[in-house]
Amino acid sequence: MVIERPRETPLPVFRRDLCTGSGRCAEVCPEQALEMVNGRPRLRPGVVCTYCGECERACPSGAISLSYEIVLGPIGRDED
Ligand code: SF4
Repeated sequence: MVIERPRETPLPVFRRDLCTGSGRCAEVCPEQALEMVNGRPRLRPGVVCTYCGECERACPSGAISLSYEIVLGPIGRDED
């Protein structure tokens, strides 16, 4: 049986328990995809996050993470 995962665009994960509400993520986002609401960041509806990682790098409390999918190449074949 083959289980297929939906190919959805990944989004940054925000940890509310670590967020201090600095707003740095929203300041550095090149797409203006983030906004601060009640002192916490959220993705603006309808704005495309390009998954650039700027918000993750800018967060002073490590509250934002972007996970990456690791794709393995063919096994047993050397390119050289
Ligand atoms: S990953 Fe980039 S585009 Fe997406 S919310 Fe963070 S800073 Fe904005």
